[in-house]
Order: sequence, then C-alpha cells, then structure tokens
Amino acid sequence: MNLHNVEFIKSVAKAEEIIRDKKTQIVFSGKSNVGKSSVINKLLNRKQFARVSATPGKTIHINYFLIDKTAYFVDLPGYGYAKVSKSERMRWSNLMESFFKEYSHITLGCMIVDARHKPTSDDCIMAEWFKATGCPLIVAANKFDKVKSSQKEQNILLIRETLNLHDDADVIGFSALKGTGKDELLYRIVGYSKGSLQKP
Ligand code: GDP
Repeated sequence: MNLHNVEFIKSVAKAEEIIRDKKTQIVFSGKSNVGKSSVINKLLNRKQFARVSATPGKTIHINYFLIDKTAYFVDLPGYGYAKVSKSERMRWSNLMESFFKEYSHITLGCMIVDARHKPTSDDCIMAEWFKATGCPLIVAANKFDKVKSSQKEQNILLIRETLNLHDDADVIGFSALKGTGKDELLYRIVGYSKGSLQKP
C-alpha cells in the first residue's frame, strides 16, 4: 500500500453527502490560513492536491481524498476567518454538526494549529468536538519554522494546555514549508489507521 496512490473523491457541501462507509477516515481540521492544505499536500508529497486557498474562509466544503483505495484523508472546511458572512458561518456550523453528530466514521482526528500562537477559542471548540468522539487526536503545530528555537518547547506546552489535551494526544511541531514533523505525523497516522497503511 502506498501514500502516492491518491485519488480525489468528492467535495461535499450537504450533510447527506457525508461519507459514512467502513473505510478509515483521517480527519484534518484547522482555522483558515493555518496551512491545512499545505500540510495535507506535504503529507501526500503533492504540490497542489488539497487546494491552497486564495481566499480563506470561502470554501465551505468537506473534501475527500482516498489513499490507496483504503483510507480517506478528510479535509474539513477551515474556520475562524473574520470576514465571512453570518450565513456562511451558519453553513459551516451546520455541516460540522452533521459531521460530528454521528461519528463512527472517524478513525483519527488531526488538528492543525498555528505553532506561533496560543490556540484560539475556535481551536478549543474544535478540540472538544474531536475529544467527544473518543477517537485518538493528534495536533500538528504548523509553521514551526517561524518559531524561535528557544520558544519551541514552551509553545508546544501552551498548545497542549490550552486545548486541554489528554496525555495520549500528541502535539507535533510541523512545518509544511520545511517538512519538519512529516515523518512523525505520518508514522502516527499510519499507526492509527487500523493497519490499512504502511509506513512509507
Ligand atoms: P489553509 O487555508 O489552512 O489551507 O492554509 P494554506 O495551506 O493555504 O496556507 C496558508 C499560508 O500559509 C500560505 O501562504 C502558505 O504558504 C503558508 N504556510 C503554510 N504552511 C506553512 C509553514 O509550515 N511555514 C510557513 N512559514 N508558512 C506556511
């Protein structure tokens, strides 16, 4: 099995189109502009597979990528973009509520946060949604390349504390730009994927 065999399946805007089959689902979430698309592209070794958004907050879709016909990478729509309209915000909430309401399809949550800052209140809400599923959760602290070496450990701790993570949830310093943390994150993703993927 290999991570290079990637297929775009579909882009979903309606609750009834959410995929709930038996395949593994690795669910990626993060605020707009945190680098979620860049992280997914880095993991898949693609330049532009997940669309790097030109207009943050504009796309309220769930995107599904199928890896080697066995596991989905699920790209949830970004949140927390200040300039979206009330109705767009509502669409986002409704879609997310549907996604998390019945959650047996979720195998692993992968939250992308900004390594430079304290997680936002939206990040905290998202973490609570993931925690409520009982699924394992990994946090990738992206843009780690922009954090001073002396600050790195402290920032990881702040993220862990602010999101109130369980001891078994990993926080990984990640840089989609430099590739930092890629192997570690892939290793965890593969490990949690019910053995359906192998370490690349
Ligand atoms: P998304 O809205 O969360 O999908 O974010 P994008 O993937 O579109 O990235 C938002 C911006 O952050 C882009 O300008 C990226 O080039 C930049 N970016 C993403 N990841 C990193 C990273 O690890 N380090 C740095 N320095 N910039 C990054």
